[in-house]
Amino acid sequence: MTIDVQLVRHYNRTVLPGNNHTYNGRRIVGADMFRVDMTLIVPAAPDEVRAQFEKSLLPEHVKPGEPYGLILMSSQLFDCMYLTTPTLVEAYRDKPIQLPQGIVYGGWPNAHGGPMEGLLPETTWFPNGVGILDEIEGIDGAKVAIYEYTVDKAQTYNHRAEPVGELANMVTYHCDRCHRPAPFDLREKIENRGPNERYIAALDARNHARGTDGHCTVPDGKMEQVVSRVASEMHGCTIELPAPASTCAAEEGCAQVREARAATMLLARA
Ligand SMILES: [Zn+2]
Ligand SMILES: [Zn+2]
Repeated sequence: MTIDVQLVRHYNRTVLPGNNHTYNGRRIVGADMFRVDMTLIVPAAPDEVRAQFEKSLLPEHVKPGEPYGLILMSSQLFDCMYLTTPTLVEAYRDKPIQLPQGIVYGGWPNAHGGPMEGLLPETTWFPNGVGILDEIEGIDGAKVAIYEYTVDKAQTYNHRAEPVGELANMVTYHCDRCHRPAPFDLREKIENRGPNERYIAALDARNHARGTDGHCTVPDGKMEQVVSRVASEMHGCTIELPAPASTCAAEEGCAQVREARAATMLLARA
């Protein structure tokens, strides 16, 4: 099936600074502001993707033999979908000023495991896929930043791999108390395909900030002392290894957050 998809022109230049999210426990359930990222028209012809999509709708919203119009909206960390008609989608494409009448559904149809997974363009919140999505308070006044960043494709899951010169969009969080996740904590670094991945990174960040993942421990430098002592004995002189906090500041999470913060400031000024 060919879904008629249109990204809103310059969609990711609207970054909604100061946006507020609503929480229910650790889950995000809403936001004060949304932007429109793309519009879709799902054709009427019977098809596997269409059939799967219809399964995700309430029975009273299923319209056999009629095309569907969809408007996909997102905030920094949340997303929702407007179900409407192709005529109203066309009108919005002509004049993207006011949202037409529609029914709000939570979540985009291309989320992981969704009916349109892999069929829609990938999106980022920030124009270059680099910026701060949110900052929350962690244990003992720690700051936990949720941010988008880019990394060489080859280094997505192996930070020591030979670069291939092509960038991948990623999303993760960073805690300035324990400097986690570390470069090898791969489960916490997510390929950033759209709002669904940003949402998951925010969930991980909140688990960390509340201490529910049990990972927020301040590095004690003991590991470095052992390595440094062994290395010193081998070389016959004293070798000092950098503490985790200082490598992080130089090249890992802290450095990425600094870069993301700079990119966000630039946009706020534009
Ligand atoms: Zn921490
Ligand atoms: Zn750090």
